[in-house]
Amino acid sequence: MALNLIMLGPPGAGKGTQAERFARTRGIPKISTGDILRDAVHEGTPLGQRAMAVMDRGELVSDDIMIGIIGERLNRDDVRGGFVLDGFPRTVPQAVALDGLMAARDPLIVVDIVVPELELARRLASRMICADCGANGAAGEIVCRRCGGKLVQRTDDNHSVVLERLRIYNMSTKPLVDFYRGRPTFRSINGAQAPDIVAADLASAIEAAGNGNGSLTGGRR
Ligand code: AMP
Repeated sequence: MALNLIMLGPPGAGKGTQAERFARTRGIPKISTGDILRDAVHEGTPLGQRAMAVMDRGELVSDDIMIGIIGERLNRDDVRGGFVLDGFPRTVPQAVALDGLMAARDPLIVVDIVVPELELARRLASRMICADCGANGAAGEIVCRRCGGKLVQRTDDNHSVVLERLRIYNMSTKPLVDFYRGRPTFRSINGAQAPDIVAADLASAIEAAGNGNGSLTGGRR
């Protein structure tokens, strides 16, 4: 069965890092809508031109655009064995559309990464990414480990934009926890721990969610 995973959680919860790590271990694609949009901005495509100002204000790109992007992406062959979605869905209409796209596929496993707001603000203020390839940098580094590019602060990680992103998360994205909570494949984990521990908890949560749903992940480890 395919392992179709979505990661919920506020900005700064570690979704991107954990999604990347998990996807790599399982050999399935990580699909990050933030990365797709940042690439489009970098390349100056029409999508990038429309998304840039919205992202820089910490607001959300429209549901229609995002649902279109994900609809196209989930049609590619490489997601047949599963995928990890990072940053989508972010609103209830996006989650409803995703259920529609999943109609003939294996069920979604949903993991919510929980981190207190004070810790998020602290993490976002010090987060660095590569200006060339978009990879996350670790604290204190100045050069990208993946490609040697320069690490910079994300334009949407400055203080006022961070507050706006957290406000929008609470208003538009947090309701997704209630949207998914009743499903047998929903789990939440504590994201305020060291990354290795979060990764181990994530793997166990996914295992448990799969077992709760008739051995979704059986035989894969
Ligand atoms: P992220 O890297 O996931 O924090 O996303 C960065 C920015 O991209 C967000 O603050 C939004 O402006 C935009 N974005 C990413 N994913 C979505 C989505 N699913 N819906 C709307 N906007 C999104």
